[in-house]
Amino acid sequence: MRFVLENMEKDVYYLGLQIANENKVVLNRIRNNGCAAIIKGGNNYSVDLGFTRIGVPYFDCICRYYYEQQHLACKHIVATALMYDRHRNIPDPDDNMVKSSCTTTIAPPQEKRP
Ligand SMILES: [Zn+2]
Repeated sequence: MRFVLENMEKDVYYLGLQIANENKVVLNRIRNNGCAAIIKGGNNYSVDLGFTRIGVPYFDCICRYYYEQQHLACKHIVATALMYDRHRNIPDPDDNMVKSSCTTTIAPPQEKRP
């Protein structure tokens, strides 16, 4: 989970937490070094996360946010990471951890703002 925290916006964490708490995450292919999951909802999103053999973290999701933000984790990835950690009896990060670890929001281009 920590490596995900370092690559996302704080708001996204809470969206992901909500998804995890609503039991919309179906973990499958759980491995020692990662897992894959399906997020149920209006659309189903498939997520993959874990570590490579040399210990480099990776994550992937099929949603538009992830695609557009390049390497920032989306709420689906956050939800999957939370459920994966819970599966391994690792507690959710607390608010302070979220606050101090999250990437500060990456400013969108000014002209897109209302
Ligand atoms: Zn996603």
